[in-house]
Amino acid sequence: MKVLVINAGSSSLKYQLMDPHTREVLAKGLCERIGIDGRLTHKIPAKDAKYEFDIPMPTHAEAIQAVLNALLSEEHGVIKSVSEIDAVGHRVVHAGEKFASSVLITDAVKEALEECIPLAPLHNPANLTGIKACEQVMPGVPMVGVFDTTFHQTMPPKSFIYALPYACYEQDKVRRYGFHGTSHRYVSQRAAAMLGKPIEELKIITCHLGNGSSIAAVDCGKSVDTTMGFTPLAGLPMGTRSGDLDAGIMEYLMNKHGYDMKEMMTILNKKSGVLGISGVSSDFRDIENAANEGNKQAALALEAFQYSVKKYIGAYAAAMGGVDAIVFTAGVGENDAITRYNSASGLEFMGVKMDQQANKVRGKEAVISAPDSKVKVLLIPTDEELMIAMDTAEIVGK
Ligand code: ADP
Repeated sequence: MKVLVINAGSSSLKYQLMDPHTREVLAKGLCERIGIDGRLTHKIPAKDAKYEFDIPMPTHAEAIQAVLNALLSEEHGVIKSVSEIDAVGHRVVHAGEKFASSVLITDAVKEALEECIPLAPLHNPANLTGIKACEQVMPGVPMVGVFDTTFHQTMPPKSFIYALPYACYEQDKVRRYGFHGTSHRYVSQRAAAMLGKPIEELKIITCHLGNGSSIAAVDCGKSVDTTMGFTPLAGLPMGTRSGDLDAGIMEYLMNKHGYDMKEMMTILNKKSGVLGISGVSSDFRDIENAANEGNKQAALALEAFQYSVKKYIGAYAAAMGGVDAIVFTAGVGENDAITRYNSASGLEFMGVKMDQQANKVRGKEAVISAPDSKVKVLLIPTDEELMIAMDTAEIVGK
């Protein structure tokens, strides 16, 4: 079976053609500068080959067509006919409270996603554009929507409710939704497989630490709490996002400096997080280099980040009444041994014992806790595309 996975952004579109059963990625790539000029980077992993083309992409439809042409090309293609593509799986950011799992895309589903646009004004319109462009270019091929928010729809009301007037939830839909759900779901399932136990018997804390970061408490396979909230601005400090903060700070800074709300939100989304504290970069590699050269703000940014991860690990262990495994994933979680070590060390009181030697590993599945650690600490590279392809295969029933 072949599934085309599409992740459409406002001016870019990532794709992977894969077999969800064998997990083989036949081709993958990226369209950039859609609506500006258009650039396609196309890769064939089996040949370790990479091709780059300038192709006009006034809209997403031309971008999808360019992807299909690349997949079908005699020189760098991997299929002979579009009919070989059994289904398309679309990453969609926000499904509000409308869906509790991935779904076959119908007109009613598209309408429901349109209704979620106010909740994700930057992402959902681009995701919908990607869906419509595929329908236009590949009529009749079944499409499935896989949403970042749905995994967290199992959170109980006590986890998702904000302590605001209840009308804010009922009328305005203001609640914790959580994001990165496809990643948290994938790595929690892999964790259960690595531990050789049914996920229904496990309490897992999944730490997705990348440019955007979130942690989830996964009890018996279900998300029961997560750090991101109504938007992806909440929770941990991130590359450039502030994470949790006292809402009173906004009023204080806006009054003091005369910022309007747009300026304030730019500060919180783009100028804060580890970039804001360090003043160096949003990239942990740059911050670590600066800290090693004696930059105190850079060292503080790392410490604040690691402390925040540790606090949430403690909080979620308390929320679930224990923890069997802690998982690290995404750019920082998969590559940054120091951040992993500092975030999960000093937790021996709750049965977590890191192993410095075992933790010296990058980008592959590994147990990084000591053999006698009661709680297993795991490194698991995330694979959201595979999860999307697997959901798509299951829903179209092949
Ligand atoms: P996104 O949230 O954009 O998907 P990723 O999960 O790809 O981000 O994470 C990207 C981040 O991973 C980079 O900004 C960088 O901070 C971090 N990163 C990648 N490689 C390393 C490394 N070797 N050491 C430390 N941090 C790394």
